[in-house]
Amino acid sequence: DAKICLSNISTLNRRLNALISVRTPESVLARVSQVASTEAGASLAGKLFAFKDNFCTIDQPTSCASQMLQGYVSPFEATVLTRLYNVGHAVDVGRANMDEFAMGTDTIFTRYGPTLNPLYPAPHSAGGSSGGSACAVSAGMCHFALGSDTGGSVRLPAAYCGVVGFKPSYGLVSRHGVIALAQSLDTVGVLGRDVPTVREAFGVISAYDPLDPTSLSIKMRRKLQLNTNRRRQESDGRYKIGIPLEFIVDSCSSDITNAWAVVLKKLLAQGHELYAVSMPEVKNALPTYYILNPSEAASNLSRYDGVRYGYRANIDRDADGVLYGVTRSQGFGSEVRRRILLGNYNLSSGAFKNHYIQAQKVRRKLKLGFDRVFSVEHPLEKQIERDNQPTVDFLVTPCSTDTAPLLDDVLSQKSPLDSYINDVLTVPASLAGIPAITVPWKTDDGKVVGIQVMGQYGDDDRMLDFSETIM
Ligand code: GLN
Repeated sequence: DAKICLSNISTLNRRLNALISVRTPESVLARVSQVASTEAGASLAGKLFAFKDNFCTIDQPTSCASQMLQGYVSPFEATVLTRLYNVGHAVDVGRANMDEFAMGTDTIFTRYGPTLNPLYPAPHSAGGSSGGSACAVSAGMCHFALGSDTGGSVRLPAAYCGVVGFKPSYGLVSRHGVIALAQSLDTVGVLGRDVPTVREAFGVISAYDPLDPTSLSIKMRRKLQLNTNRRRQESDGRYKIGIPLEFIVDSCSSDITNAWAVVLKKLLAQGHELYAVSMPEVKNALPTYYILNPSEAASNLSRYDGVRYGYRANIDRDADGVLYGVTRSQGFGSEVRRRILLGNYNLSSGAFKNHYIQAQKVRRKLKLGFDRVFSVEHPLEKQIERDNQPTVDFLVTPCSTDTAPLLDDVLSQKSPLDSYINDVLTVPASLAGIPAITVPWKTDDGKVVGIQVMGQYGDDDRMLDFSETIM
């Protein structure tokens, strides 16, 4: 099995550009056989994985696909990698391509060149920003992959490449050692060919980490586990499914809406109950996300000054103020520079109240909107008033508004809004911090579509149970 993955890497990676650095086959096979002899019982023993280039390792450079981090080697390792190596005994095959600093939806804003979608003979987008991770899984280069999902970056590429992409509840998986894009939204996600593999990897990386200040406490994790056990016992495997009307957006192609309808019919036939639910707050999710994300990103990225580490422009260091500006103009690509400008504008004294603070308020309303539709209460929030509409276990929607676009079409997009609009179906779950997963669905005419499931905060395990039945 490992040999097949390695052979796929050697034959396919040159064209697909999924992995930007690859371990030698000898070292991977040596590690696999070592693990097989000593740790055969571990859940991920000998399973191969790839990880996005924003996960820090101590033995190789970590670049976020940016020139700005050229030559940067981290002094510490991401907690999730340590856990995959030491608890899961999984073996990594290399680092995956991504949009620079995880900003993007097509893995085109990368200093390594775009990743291609393995499902299509003509060059199509692999999705982004974890496009390298999704492509590597889809092309059989590894069993699973790690990505980061701030507004959809695990789910969207998974949907385009026909694999499973899971964004856990905010706070379940440590971000220590994952280079931040927007901390209030960032999560570590898992991509795999099926739900059980994703679940195994999630089981290993979901753990309290004192090094991540947002990591959910051990006590709360126990409570979630007990809740899950109880709900599983009470359940007969049939769920109440919500169809949120605000996810029916004009930009959805007929391939997507038809597939959605077919999946819903299948769920009905399986004995689940379907309910239309309305969440008017969802309409504000995209603009809210594109205020908060650049604001947090701009603040994070201010540390790249050309002085302490990473790239430095080759100019006279004494020319005060110039080094910083030239370094940043040269070191960051166009999308990153755009977000820095947008973000600093939102945070400026003139705009702060009307943009940043306002977006926080709208975000809060959106969170409450989700709480109102889920039957299960939010374990960290006060119980809220429910209105008259039915409450549900999970929401089922499409993950993207269309199937993977042609690469040429994305490269020739005129406005950044053309790409931001692709996040309309994924950012609501990010803003609410709730778990969301996309599972691949093949239409009768052979198209590959991602179907998204969302659940209440902390209801990740049951959401995985349910998602497994869709595929
Ligand atoms: N496409 C979104 C953005 O560009 C998502 C990014 C992400 O989840 N890392 O911000």
